[in-house]
Amino acid sequence: MLNNNNTKKRILTGDRPTGPLHLGHYVGSLVNRVRLQDEYNCFFIIADYQFLTDHLHDTILVEEYINEIILDWLSVGMDPRKSTFFIQSQVPEIAELTVIFSMLATVARLQRNPTVKDEFKASGLRAISYGFLGYPVSQAADILVVRSHLVPVGDDNLPHVEQTREIARTFNSTFSEVFPIPEPLVGKVSRLPGLDGQKMAKSRGNAIYLKDTPEEVKRKVSIAITDPARIKATDIGHPDLCSVFKYYLAFVINEAPTVEQNCRKGKIGCVACKNYLSDKVNIFLEPIREKRNYYGHKPRFISEILAEGIKRTGIEAKETMRLVHEAMHYDYKKLLI
Ligand code: SF4
Repeated sequence: MLNNNNTKKRILTGDRPTGPLHLGHYVGSLVNRVRLQDEYNCFFIIADYQFLTDHLHDTILVEEYINEIILDWLSVGMDPRKSTFFIQSQVPEIAELTVIFSMLATVARLQRNPTVKDEFKASGLRAISYGFLGYPVSQAADILVVRSHLVPVGDDNLPHVEQTREIARTFNSTFSEVFPIPEPLVGKVSRLPGLDGQKMAKSRGNAIYLKDTPEEVKRKVSIAITDPARIKATDIGHPDLCSVFKYYLAFVINEAPTVEQNCRKGKIGCVACKNYLSDKVNIFLEPIREKRNYYGHKPRFISEILAEGIKRTGIEAKETMRLVHEAMHYDYKKLLI
């Protein structure tokens, strides 16, 4: 199963195991990862320590969630023969590197990180923990433990990459050049709103999951928010105000101009428009569901992928820590012969 990626530039990206992935994840990152794995040496992390930032009381679910994510990754075409899949907590060097990096990031700098502020607000937590405030430091350790050159991000995550770059620069200038300064790979990131027009989020119940059944897709689309001013099928519509139309733009792109025209001229009713969209989304999801079902019956295969990925990442991480210890004079060559 070993890939031969050592000459390629390295990428690190991944997901927190907060549950199965949805169409927003697909258009925002998964489709991009499938493309990147042919060009780069990709490390895909499941950040289970970062799960703790706002899911401290849900750890009983973490194993199931990790399994869901691996199934989602495999079902969309992320390929463990080309890339490395691993679980953050199973590579202990990441935790060690986090401790060292935490000395290189100031509290004031972390408090200014706009993504941390937004995520804390969205979490509904009453107080921010040390780990939540410091999770960009943990993310820097994820990225730099495999000495990544590139980090695919949406523009909302740019502050994290900037913080990682600062930490890498500070380490290199304080000790010696160990880390590449990773560049953000800001691709064309598409954002899909939830079916209610708000940000897609599990907690809002407004997402279509990759594993949803055809019936679930149909039911969810049927209650999606459309142009609120439209009462009758013959009313002039405003597709720009309709969340359903955003899904046309993402999944039925060829037919979106016709739908737009018909909507604007009052030539199509919302029920018919939604039914057609559900059919198209179901056609799109069918091969994904099939693969998911197939891998869902292969627990041993999933276990092997993870074991192999953890081993591969561990080799890189050990080499990184050897360089880090040497640079910091923490290799204790005389004391520990
Ligand atoms: S006809 Fe379609 S695009 Fe127009 S408002 Fe209704 S659901 Fe939206």
